[in-house]
Amino acid sequence: MVDLIGQYEKIKPEIDKAVLDVIASSAYINGPEVKKFQSELENYLNVKHVIPCANGTDALQIAMMGLGLKPGDEVITASFTYVATAEVIALLQLTPVLVDVDPKTYQIDPEAVKKAITSKTKAIVPVHLFGQCAPMDSIMAIARAHELYVIEDTAQAIGARYTMNDGSTQMAGTIGDIGTTSFFPSKNLGCYGDGGAIFTNNDDLATKMRMIANHGQSVQYYHDEIGVNSRLDSIQAAILRIKLRHLDEYAAARNTVADYYDNAFKNLKGVITPARVQNSTHVFHQYTLVLENADRDELRKFLAEKEIPSMIYYPVPLHMQKAYTDKRYKEGDFPATEYLCKHVISLPIHTEMNEEDLTTIAEPVKDFLTHIIAQG
Ligand SMILES: *Cc1c(COP(=O)(O)O)cnc(C)c1O
Repeated sequence: MVDLIGQYEKIKPEIDKAVLDVIASSAYINGPEVKKFQSELENYLNVKHVIPCANGTDALQIAMMGLGLKPGDEVITASFTYVATAEVIALLQLTPVLVDVDPKTYQIDPEAVKKAITSKTKAIVPVHLFGQCAPMDSIMAIARAHELYVIEDTAQAIGARYTMNDGSTQMAGTIGDIGTTSFFPSKNLGCYGDGGAIFTNNDDLATKMRMIANHGQSVQYYHDEIGVNSRLDSIQAAILRIKLRHLDEYAAARNTVADYYDNAFKNLKGVITPARVQNSTHVFHQYTLVLENADRDELRKFLAEKEIPSMIYYPVPLHMQKAYTDKRYKEGDFPATEYLCKHVISLPIHTEMNEEDLTTIAEPVKDFLTHIIAQG
């Protein structure tokens, strides 16, 4: 689904030098590379504070700990997302309150969020799914009206830009109280191992979250809070500094792929290409089609025979996952999420695809779908 080797080869001399320099410096933990990456990412995102940490799941956990959420507090998120979002809510003994998504954009549905609010609700976690922003104007308005925190899960959308209704443009993850991201290798800004970060413009929250990520200490061996141990390695930071300089060009390459696919599939009946919303740019973490009547498993088999990978993000909604089944939820509660889980298919999209790769993938997809639809 991605070509990490091809991408590495283009920046190999720079990366190899940066990694070897860290090894030679012996500043493996919290070295100068981490500080430099932090400040470069603050500049890129135009946000006051970036707190690097070990992965995107930790980033979400530290954000919720930083907000001082207590067991029993309710946190609203979408049922159509990666499990990490709900997992940390449950781990902290908060109550995950799942809601449906907009069937056109796949993003959390603000109307559903509104209906899910109770006196126990403390926060909303919109996920900028597949690389495009959730409807942040509506979410921020709801949050303000009900005094709720907003944590943006930006693991799939770093570098996306959102234009608010007032005309101002902000980077994904810097609109709510806190933004979180992941540097997992296949993410849009991926390192060569695990990594993550937290963003905020709030000075007090930043101080608190920095402390929580570091065993709850502000001075070594004095622990004011119960914290966690969550650090970004210096080697990963050195790699990320180089890759950050290419992030916008990587997003442009992904958009070229998406445009090609859109054009290739636009006249196929029963095939819905990804919606592009007005307020947000798209960084295409995934390129996801909805197949209204074709059998996606047959398509996957057909592609696999030609050694073309495809994936289903996500086959099972969170409210129907074994670990999260709950008497509060049943099949049929979130029709858009359930429909998407049954009908989506994601095609390879990455920064190293040329015209030939695209033809090799799009042609068989088109052939299969044309054939199926012709057969009715
Ligand atoms: C990848 C991902 C995460 C978790 O990131 P890790 O670094 O793997 O812990 C969280 N949320 C979403 C939406 C993701 O895609």
